Amino acid sequence: MDLQERTTEILQRLIRFNTVNPPGNEAAAQEYLRELLETAGFECELLEAAPGRPNQVARLRGGPDGPSLVLLGHVDTVLANPAEWRVDPWSGELREGCVWGRGAVDMKSQVAAEVAAVLDLAERGWRPESGELKLVLTADEEAGAEFGAKWLCERHPDKVRADLVVNEGAGEVFEFGGRRFYGVCVGEKGVFRFTLTTEGRAGHASIPRIGDNALVKMAPILEALRDGRPAPQPSPETDALMRALGVEGVEALEQAEPGLAVLLEPLLGVTLTPTMISASEKINVIPSRAELKVDCRVPPGLGEETALECIRGRLGENGYSVRFDEQVIGNSSPTEGVLMEAIRDFVQSEDPGAELAPVVLPGFSDSRWFRDAFPDCVAYGFFPQRAMDLFEVMPLVHGADERIPVEDLGLAARAYGALVERLLA
Ligand SMILES: [Zn+2]
Repeated sequence: MDLQERTTEILQRLIRFNTVNPPGNEAAAQEYLRELLETAGFECELLEAAPGRPNQVARLRGGPDGPSLVLLGHVDTVLANPAEWRVDPWSGELREGCVWGRGAVDMKSQVAAEVAAVLDLAERGWRPESGELKLVLTADEEAGAEFGAKWLCERHPDKVRADLVVNEGAGEVFEFGGRRFYGVCVGEKGVFRFTLTTEGRAGHASIPRIGDNALVKMAPILEALRDGRPAPQPSPETDALMRALGVEGVEALEQAEPGLAVLLEPLLGVTLTPTMISASEKINVIPSRAELKVDCRVPPGLGEETALECIRGRLGENGYSVRFDEQVIGNSSPTEGVLMEAIRDFVQSEDPGAELAPVVLPGFSDSRWFRDAFPDCVAYGFFPQRAMDLFEVMPLVHGADERIPVEDLGLAARAYGALVERLLA
């Protein structure tokens, strides 16, 4: 069977296993993949941190030297509300040249492409000349990876040890200044969510000036956070992206391509997004205290101090207090090396003239756990798509009518085949 058809079929099957997390229930999907991989000669192992929620490590051993290349993917998904969809989200229906269903983009498609590519190689008798090929297919990515990649990297480092990792995070084509770019995700931002509190004095709401209203003290704070623009933070990743695009900074990006700037500017600095607010519990009581929750994302490698500096820069020093509720430092891999070269050559062969743009994911992915556990490993997110571009794909991630063109499934499967053959030659 041709590689694109095979990827399409595996994706359809994967979508039909409902792996909405929570609860995940990844076992049946993992068993299905295990059978495919074992038949082709892989040694497979299911490793469970919670009942019914196995992770899978499939290995094809080669020569004694050479890198350990991990194709990474998660088989769980976020939920879907069928009422908002044009098709059943667990149908895997083929319609209008696309496979539809929850996970069609994030990320059963990549899992299907990785599996189809390595089955194709293994069935043709290919084995790593040097190094080792591993597929690491995780559970529980969408709910924090406690039972997935985090657990695997902490508890079974010998089984998932990696020098090179290919995961999700970027790869859709976009145009800028008449040039075509494919994103390669080189890092993940950190998460520094906090509660901001203002204080006042309670009083009867019928006599406004008798109290000191903590809620209205939020007005200037919200106003200061209104534009949603990050304060640019110099970093090697930002520099590499700007160099690739050939622009001098966010303003230049904004002028040239305002739509692209909306997607790329969060990569360039700390973002502060207010999402929840609470104050008085009674409508007739002036609140003595108000709380605002802010989702704050910080560039890789930077921590609380950077977040605080940015908060003070934006809101001033006084009139509020800040308490961090979540603190996770992001990490990244170098923007050049053998993996980047291999990806660049693949893109050149499929789409001559197209270039790579190193990007940082504003969100989170399993790459982070691998970079933490194996400091020398290089982990990138790359799932090439060109039948649908960045602007078409982004709203489908975790959204309704998630779907992927079958042509892009073929493109991605060819990419993984090419990377594996080249890096383990
Ligand atoms: Zn994902």
